[in-house]
Amino acid sequence: MKVVQAYRFALDPTPAQERALRSHAGAARFAWNWGLARCRERHAAEGKWFSAAELHKLWNAEKKVDPGLAWWAESSKCAYQEAFRNLDRALRDYVKSRKGERKGRRLGFPKFKKRGKCRDSFRLTGAIRCRRGTVTLPRLGSIRTHEPVLKLARKIDDGMARILSATVSRTAQRWFVSFTVELDRDAPGRHARPGTAVGVDLGVKTLLTGADDRGRLIEIVGPKPMRAGLRRLRRASRAQSRKQPGSAGRRTGAARLARIHARIANLRADALHKATTALAARYETVVVEDLNVTGMIANRRLARAVSDQGFGAARRMLGYKTAREGGTLVVADRWYPSSKTCSGCGSVKAKLTLAERVYQCDACGLVTGRDVNAARNLLSLAASGADRVNACGAAVRPGLTAGRAALKQEPGTAKADQTGTAVINVVTRAGGGRADRRRVLREPEAGTTR
Ligand SMILES: [Zn+2]
Repeated sequence: MKVVQAYRFALDPTPAQERALRSHAGAARFAWNWGLARCRERHAAEGKWFSAAELHKLWNAEKKVDPGLAWWAESSKCAYQEAFRNLDRALRDYVKSRKGERKGRRLGFPKFKKRGKCRDSFRLTGAIRCRRGTVTLPRLGSIRTHEPVLKLARKIDDGMARILSATVSRTAQRWFVSFTVELDRDAPGRHARPGTAVGVDLGVKTLLTGADDRGRLIEIVGPKPMRAGLRRLRRASRAQSRKQPGSAGRRTGAARLARIHARIANLRADALHKATTALAARYETVVVEDLNVTGMIANRRLARAVSDQGFGAARRMLGYKTAREGGTLVVADRWYPSSKTCSGCGSVKAKLTLAERVYQCDACGLVTGRDVNAARNLLSLAASGADRVNACGAAVRPGLTAGRAALKQEPGTAKADQTGTAVINVVTRAGGGRADRRRVLREPEAGTTR
């Protein structure tokens, strides 16, 4: 089975190489802007745009005659070509979005990119190699990597992997290369633990709360990186706004701000990757809620907590990781009241505010944590196959959700909060000490499940 996967490595370029990287990013930006200007001109006159191939042809003709473009040869021709492809794609996506053929937020017309305001990035194709702590890119030569590339290099040598393209980008002061790799992978067989299931509630207070088919609770306390780093961030941005525009202090301040943002994003991604990998490896069926993430972010009071914890990212990770392990991700219908339903007797509350952290059932008297209650309800959907997400991540038609499958209470498993709770603190210390590599999920200590 052929799959496409990304491999991303931090780079350690020499100063000369870093200049070359910047120059390539500049070339890609120039090509985008040049192409966009041509497309706008033509659209005003004839009502249509140029395709990537047409732009490339135009560019090849013009770069040779215009003395102002004599610098074009300093960068790989791929950088220009791929920028035209990106532009082509952006224009198509814009049209699709306008016609309602594209999911998600409405896309605007592509904009011009401004140096210092846009992301420094470019894509290369062609002779790309990766071995022994270096990556070799067309025109740029061998650049040392900050982290080992051995695993990918070995796959390439064995003929199990093929690099399709390399995207180089800068985040804060660090450069990264992300390879798009075609991999030969065995089609996943049955999951290693058939029949296991877990309901997962993505929370604001706790990163992730899970209830599994054996009555165990899993609680993953997120790093809350945004909130923790927020004071530092706020102070840094206030200091930044006081600085003279165009001054050296403002430039260094901007770099500092970017570093804080990058670190926060890394902490968040790290915690989510560890948690979702562990869940996908351990459970065949994972059930999550279909959160309306865009809608939630529009709600400003929730926005910070939600984007902090990365709900959308968690779902996407669970999607491809369960598929990789031979499991399934089940997405509950958006209108399924996982929080309002009692996981004990099934009665549904008319109202439950976000502030109510404890679920209290008026019908049967069950008292349990809000997240735990939601996770248990989601678990009960595992067998019913609410809305399965297949290997490609495309949702298959929603099935049932009106009713609610009975939650099995096995003899001997305790109700509500009496079960053993494996409280897992996701280790988020940066720098990668030994403790960081420890598995995220642990079995609850023997004897805690009464
Ligand atoms: Zn109840």
